[in-house]
Amino acid sequence: MRRRINDEFADLPISRQRKYQLRMRRAGRCAECGEPAVQGSRCLKHLVKARERQRRKRGLKRRYRGTLSYRLQSEARQKRLAGAGLSSPARSEPARL
Ligand SMILES: [Zn+2]
Repeated sequence: MRRRINDEFADLPISRQRKYQLRMRRAGRCAECGEPAVQGSRCLKHLVKARERQRRKRGLKRRYRGTLSYRLQSEARQKRLAGAGLSSPARSEPARL
């Protein structure tokens, strides 16, 4: 049988979901999926989801480009492009030999 988790959150008068979120935040992981969080309390995927959800709900028009989730998004885009450019010739070479 699994032993009961006994940490500083165990006896707080809060929901199981909230305890999970606090434990994930303490461990530096996403509060929604448990993936490692780059920065802040969520992974990039859920940072973006939360941002777009809040925009819709609050009817916001502006986008603050300096914000963490936008910066991480453009970084991830550049990494994807650079990775594709470098890896495709390397992948095809061994096949020719
Ligand atoms: Zn996540």
